[in-house]
Amino acid sequence: MKIDFPPRLELAHTPTPLHRLSRTSAELGVEFWIKRDDLTGAALSGNKVRKLEFLFAEALEQRADTVVTCGGEQSNHCRATAIAASQVGLSCVLLLRTADPNNPPPFRGNIVLDRLAGAEIRWISHAQYARRHELFESVAEELRAAGRHPYVVPEGGSNAVGTWGYVLTCEELAAQIDSLPDKPTTIVYATGSGGTGAGLAVGAKMTGLRERGVRTAGFNVCDDRDYFVKAMTRIAADMRARWPAVPALDADELDIVDGYVGLGYAKSRAEELELLRDFVQREGIVLDPVYSGKAFYGLTRELAANPSRFGERVIFLHTGGIFGLLAKSEQLEPLL
Ligand SMILES: *Cc1c(COP(=O)(O)O)cnc(C)c1O
Repeated sequence: MKIDFPPRLELAHTPTPLHRLSRTSAELGVEFWIKRDDLTGAALSGNKVRKLEFLFAEALEQRADTVVTCGGEQSNHCRATAIAASQVGLSCVLLLRTADPNNPPPFRGNIVLDRLAGAEIRWISHAQYARRHELFESVAEELRAAGRHPYVVPEGGSNAVGTWGYVLTCEELAAQIDSLPDKPTTIVYATGSGGTGAGLAVGAKMTGLRERGVRTAGFNVCDDRDYFVKAMTRIAADMRARWPAVPALDADELDIVDGYVGLGYAKSRAEELELLRDFVQREGIVLDPVYSGKAFYGLTRELAANPSRFGERVIFLHTGGIFGLLAKSEQLEPLL
């Protein structure tokens, strides 16, 4: 099926490589492949730029001059938004969640890049973040009153527009695995705001991957299974409402693997960081502690309990996040 994509800017370096990792395959007892979406760019690295390609196309179409978005203090999404904004000539306002807005977190990791890119950072509390939709409205109102034209990008870029980025990724993946024999395969990913997972699930249906035995499974890094099933089916329904060619996505088509949030969002246990370290030493590929590292940790536990849980072939989506790792140097050093 020829997919009719909405307008898109080219910001990401794609297609990203898909590699088979033989040592990890032997270690885990499955055919293990890695899809390197950590290589979508240098400062732009990770999954968010794929969503921003569609979101920024819409922003420019609407003649916006400023993008506004939100995230945690070390948000990869906010950093990618700040860098991409500079790339296309937009101003950027970031609403970053932190424990005490009067006492901002240390200047490191993604925050360094946010500031280098010239983004305006506004520190907000967890309580303000919980009401971010109202806050977006008031910030947009303030900017309009100052004669600017804001475009609001929701948390993680995860709405009907941004999610097309992972439908496009499925098309990319379908071409990459075209020459491989069909076998039960699962695309494994970390989920934090649901857009990547929704896009993969919808995209697997639209590109025929699903018919070829490819499933998707997301490891949630915050909240719980129920939250993500609702978030992803809602995003898919919003896409379908705007683009009727998008197939319906039912809750029972989603596999969300709960139980690996660990100490909480963006908090790491030593065993997770040790596994991340071992993976760098075995493969030369750096996962991140907040998302891909937790998903990989969960994957190893699930496979230890049930080797056929994800079929014969796993395609692990490396969604990026290296700058968040660099913000955890104190916790990493004792493990080295
Ligand atoms: C945001 C992010 C994710 C999660 O993607 P969502 O689309 O928000 O669910 C995974 N990995 C990394 C490194 C991220 O920055």
